[in-house]
Amino acid sequence: MYRPTWIEIDREAIAHNIREIKTRMGEQQVMAVVKADGYGHGAVTVAEIALENGADLLAVALLEEAIELREAGIQAPILMLEALLPEHAPVASNYDVAVPVFSADWLQEAKRHLTEIDHLRLHIKIDTGMGRLGLQHVDELKRILAECDDDLVELEGIYTHFATADELSSQLFERQLETFLSYVALVPDIRYVHCANSAAAIRLAGQAPFNVVRVGIALYGAMPSDEMAGHYEFLKPAFSLKSRLMQVKQVEPGQTISYGATYTAPTDEWIGTVPIGYADGWSRKFQGYSLIVDGLPCEIVGRVCMDRLMIRLPREYPIGTEVILIGEGAPIEEAAHWLGTINYEVLCQFSKRVPRQ
Ligand SMILES: *Cc1c(COP(=O)(O)O)cnc(C)c1O
Repeated sequence: MYRPTWIEIDREAIAHNIREIKTRMGEQQVMAVVKADGYGHGAVTVAEIALENGADLLAVALLEEAIELREAGIQAPILMLEALLPEHAPVASNYDVAVPVFSADWLQEAKRHLTEIDHLRLHIKIDTGMGRLGLQHVDELKRILAECDDDLVELEGIYTHFATADELSSQLFERQLETFLSYVALVPDIRYVHCANSAAAIRLAGQAPFNVVRVGIALYGAMPSDEMAGHYEFLKPAFSLKSRLMQVKQVEPGQTISYGATYTAPTDEWIGTVPIGYADGWSRKFQGYSLIVDGLPCEIVGRVCMDRLMIRLPREYPIGTEVILIGEGAPIEEAAHWLGTINYEVLCQFSKRVPRQ
């Protein structure tokens, strides 16, 4: 690393979070969701820590993400959550990655691509109200069950996904749970039954007849929503984004800063240059937001550039002084509010230019 801008992953925090979640889940198995490069934390790192600290299974979105884990030597069961193109079924089989089955036509087509050396693990995906991936009729389920009568495929799980698990009073949530349970009753003896993301896992802990929870955001120590914060006080955030002052200078009243000259110093001011910009995923929308230097908030003045930004310092600081963009004193939820989005999106938005340490 030549440029002092990095993402710091607190491995101990991830280990703590998974152990705490595991304890609260009792008999239920924990599927650690490490899609999108482990929500920006590094998928292999997170998967290894999660497995060492009690996770039983892993989930990813893409087949590429599953292959990355297998190539790193990870042998735990992996479920891919996104739909697979039927012609890639043999690849999933070859890497022993379970995939969702969401229609009988998809399954018929996938089976046409499999040969006797293949064995594709399937989890039936029910759309109980998310309106995303999944089947919506019992007849479809029956057609799928009829297709699972040979050794090419193995029906291993059934699952659904909630649209409003992070809202404490939601009738949709209750309805989705009820619908899901009515489908589960049609496939007795299936190995994995799962419906809960982080928010639902805590709400339903020990209540519903499912035996796996799919935990993403909580693993990383971030809240599923503001409303859920009270349920998740035990979490420790694992993600920090840091940099260092590269230049510190005093500017005179009237001097403007950055493209478009949108900021004019009203008096003598200390300005620090920080080597991170929108090419790293630090949005131009952060103009006006405060970063932390020496425990104090320092406003981003002028436009955020592609590779750097400027902050107003309360006094002169030495070059090399640490700047916290996300972390202690600058929670990710604050950055998310500033951008008008959720912490999930902020975690995923940093580019490969920013190394994870
Ligand atoms: C991403 C995802 C999860 C994890 O959700 P969190 O809110 O991060 O816990 C669980 N299930 C599915 C289907 C997902 O896509």
